[in-house]
Amino acid sequence: MSPELTAALTLCRNLPSPPGIALRIIELAQDPEAEIATAADIIAIDMALSARMLRIANSPLYASRRRIENLAQALTMLGLNATVSLALGFTVTQGLVGNGGDSHDLRERAWRRSILSALAASQLGQARGLRRLEELMLAGLLQDIGVLCLAQTQPDRYLPLLRDAQDNTALVAREREALDCTHADVGAWVAEQWGLPRYLVDSIKRSEDGEPASDPFQACVQLAGPVADIWLADDADAARECALQQVHAQLGLDSARFDQVLARISEALPDIASLFDSGLNSPLRVRELIDHAQELATLRNLREMQDAEQARRRADEFEARAKRLADQAHRDALTGVLNRRQLEAVLEQEFNRAARHGWPLSVAFIDLDDFKKINDAHGHLTGDEVLRVFAGKLQGQLRHSDTVARFGGEEFVALLPNTTENVALDVIRRVLASIVSTPMAELEGGPLFVTFSAGVATQGGYERFADVNDLLRAADDVLYRSKNLGRNRVIARSPGELGHDELAAAAGVELG
Ligand code: GH3
Ligand code: MG
Ligand code: MG
Repeated sequence: MSPELTAALTLCRNLPSPPGIALRIIELAQDPEAEIATAADIIAIDMALSARMLRIANSPLYASRRRIENLAQALTMLGLNATVSLALGFTVTQGLVGNGGDSHDLRERAWRRSILSALAASQLGQARGLRRLEELMLAGLLQDIGVLCLAQTQPDRYLPLLRDAQDNTALVAREREALDCTHADVGAWVAEQWGLPRYLVDSIKRSEDGEPASDPFQACVQLAGPVADIWLADDADAARECALQQVHAQLGLDSARFDQVLARISEALPDIASLFDSGLNSPLRVRELIDHAQELATLRNLREMQDAEQARRRADEFEARAKRLADQAHRDALTGVLNRRQLEAVLEQEFNRAARHGWPLSVAFIDLDDFKKINDAHGHLTGDEVLRVFAGKLQGQLRHSDTVARFGGEEFVALLPNTTENVALDVIRRVLASIVSTPMAELEGGPLFVTFSAGVATQGGYERFADVNDLLRAADDVLYRSKNLGRNRVIARSPGELGHDELAAAAGVELG
């Protein structure tokens, strides 16, 4: 193809649709009950619109990771409102403004042939037992898209060729002579520029190359043209005979099967005449329709934005709910502090963070004193109430970066990141002082008070623990000692209790 031709084709984007298609799109756009399947039925018989939808669905703007291979996929991805807005946008202007006149009649032949080829390709495929019927239909529909591109970009050179050519064979011969390429070359080049799927580019390219295709898919697309010509030729019988020979040779269908194929095409054929003869002869009526279509396009765009907004809100709500559920799964149902499983996860995280930053991590194991007596004296419900109030107070007394979890029963664990043992002791003692003077429940006999015992262990102080379990066990050991020492107290492992090796290791001293 010559550089001037490719330069002109680069600018070729929006091809005209038949006026009848434009009218149907307008009808669809004002129908609040419209469905995407109806849009698909209309678009599937219009090569300009089909190519446009595929081009947009495959454009990087839509950032779909999957390649869109056929019309159903494209429309599903775009959604009804986008599909209708896109279709309205230019089908209407191109389809209605350019309506009538000589060039319109010349294009009409290409439109007719493309619809017939689409049906022929898919019916031939069906007769041959092929699976990808939707892709076949699309390939049949688009094989002559080069004709529209040439008529659009080279009207002075190309329209006379179209006018003078008796049939497709004559047209291809004239194209070769005048342009040094065929409409199939042009169509394939444009399809590639538009990012249409590879199989479409190939089948358009090979639709006029004269070599019988060995691949049955390609063969169906190639043969769709000659089959379509049966409806377009002056001598239908001769055209049928010619098509039958090729179909028999390439697909192995006999005359009876071939006639079945033709009958099915006739059945599926829409009322083609109404697509071209729209009765739009008055310029005023055309102007009105265009105005109407523009208004509908704006409304559809608004709807689309509202839909998008709604979808976004729904997604936000969904996310919030999922987060709430996940959060609930992390918490203890009675007290609302973290549960034991989540404690293990947080502890692991904090343990590693402490190692990374070289800061201390203190753990306090806290157990309410004589809790069994509270249950025995006042009942389990009061016991529950005490646990709930206690957990809330404990959490309220600590920093945001600290973590409170219920380890089980009346046992709680507090994690204090970046806190030395001395500071942790101070903090938990302050909590104890506050708890002992705060009523945990109001009973008939007066307020109920509790005490607790706690053991503190610190990673990165005097000691280095191998893992979180060692750290937790150390805190638990100290807790039991504080119980033995008489309860209502908070203690840590004093350095005096550590062995020589542990102390030296903690201080980083080499042992001799
Ligand atoms: P100590 O000072 O030695 O810790 O004595 P204690 O009575 O607090 O300890 P013990 O382990 O003997 O008893 C704990 C009690 O906590 C027994 C159990 O029934 C009660 N308990 C555990 N979970 C719950 C709960 O969810 N609700 C209530 N009401 N009581 C609970
Ligand atoms: Mg207890
Ligand atoms: Mg206990």
